[in-house]
Amino acid sequence: MENLDSKAKYRRKNRTELCQKSREYYEKNREREKERFKKYQKTRSVITKRDPIKRRTYDILHYALKMGRLQKKPCGECGAEKVEAHHEDYARPLAVTWLCKKCHAKHHRVNNHAKGEPSKV
Ligand SMILES: [Zn+2]
Ligand SMILES: [Zn+2]
Repeated sequence: MENLDSKAKYRRKNRTELCQKSREYYEKNREREKERFKKYQKTRSVITKRDPIKRRTYDILHYALKMGRLQKKPCGECGAEKVEAHHEDYARPLAVTWLCKKCHAKHHRVNNHAKGEPSKV
């Protein structure tokens, strides 16, 4: 009986230690997550402040891609696989032209589009 009792005690003690450890891990992780989230918020708010319409446009575009409502296509100019989304009109978030980095930059130079379009999708 005595033996069983001490085993149970040991198990209980062990469990508490385990809990303690995972809690420490969680706390540490949470701090890191918080930092990351803060950074994300900061970047996001900078973009939003600069151009809320653009931000909204890209949110909608990201969502459509995620949901499979929209698919990336090869570059409309040269057929390259790696493409960026180009918007002629930010009021129509899903009306995108897929262009590779090179053609995208060229397109902006030629058509004199606004600078600073967040092109990473
Ligand atoms: Zn291209
Ligand atoms: Zn563009």
